[in-house]
Amino acid sequence: KADGRDRWCAYSEEFDRTFRHRQSTEADLREALLTETGIEVYYQPIATVSSGEVIGFEALARWRHPTRGMVMPDDFIQVAEASGLIVLLGERILRQACQDAASWSPPLRLSVNVSPLQFVQGDLVNMIAGALADSGLDPQLLELEMTEGVLIDDASGTLLLLNRIRALGVSIVLDDFGTGFSSLSYLQHFPFSKVKLDKSFITDMLENCDVTSIVKAVLALSKSLNIAVVAEGVETSAQLELLRELGCDQAQGYLISRPLPINGLSEILGGIG
Ligand code: C2E
Ligand code: CA
Ligand code: CA
Ligand code: CA
Repeated sequence: KADGRDRWCAYSEEFDRTFRHRQSTEADLREALLTETGIEVYYQPIATVSSGEVIGFEALARWRHPTRGMVMPDDFIQVAEASGLIVLLGERILRQACQDAASWSPPLRLSVNVSPLQFVQGDLVNMIAGALADSGLDPQLLELEMTEGVLIDDASGTLLLLNRIRALGVSIVLDDFGTGFSSLSYLQHFPFSKVKLDKSFITDMLENCDVTSIVKAVLALSKSLNIAVVAEGVETSAQLELLRELGCDQAQGYLISRPLPINGLSEILGGIG
């Protein structure tokens, strides 16, 4: 009995620590957003599989914390979503990224992540229009990455929003495809110009031929619907080689480059060979 109580205490202390950590993360993040300090945007190149040419970048949030150092998205995006701060954070990232991308020469595509909460809170369409107008970025260069969670919650409402976003000239990308409740029918029902095949498929496809078959099926369906496919998390040349054989359009991953700060992009522009 005493044993059980000790375990409970250990559990409750652990729980308490996690809870306090979340609370301080939220408070610090709110402070960072209010004072406009510490939130940065890194960029990871996306290249064509056939020639290795870099055609664009995905914007990824980074947080330079005053005492914790560089904090990665996995340690703050959830807190930002649970607290609602993601709406403001998402706007900051989009505005900064549009401003950065507007000065890229040659002009390259910019992908920005949009959280499900941004679809239901705030005025997403006007926010995007404002970011485009203020930066002067060509809307045709902007693509927004969303996950399928948004589609399940309110499919018809989301479809209306997506069509309004498309009317701005912006394209929509289905992110993390193959995780969660993915359904191939989403590709047909929503106006996606691109789908990002989740890293887990790329990691497993060389060892597991069931996974290879899934990748092939997604590529075949996407091709017939005129949707480009991006392979995420490409880490080895063997993976890139198989993707080339299978006819995958684009790739992103450490093999090509890690996400880079804005002043690190110049060495990437010009192709990866
Ligand atoms: P994501 O949208 O799927 O972004 C790709 C993540 O995979 C990035 O992690 C990237 O650094 C990582 N990655 C890229 N290539 C490789 C690879 O070859 N191997 C491995 N192991 N990882 C690779 P990051 O930057 O830590 O972001 C994690 C997640 O946080 C993102 O996943 C996205 O869901 C979320 N996130 C990041 N920035 C934002 C943002 O501005 N807004 C929103 N709503 N979410 C964001
Ligand atoms: Ca993404
Ligand atoms: Ca992804
Ligand atoms: Ca992911």
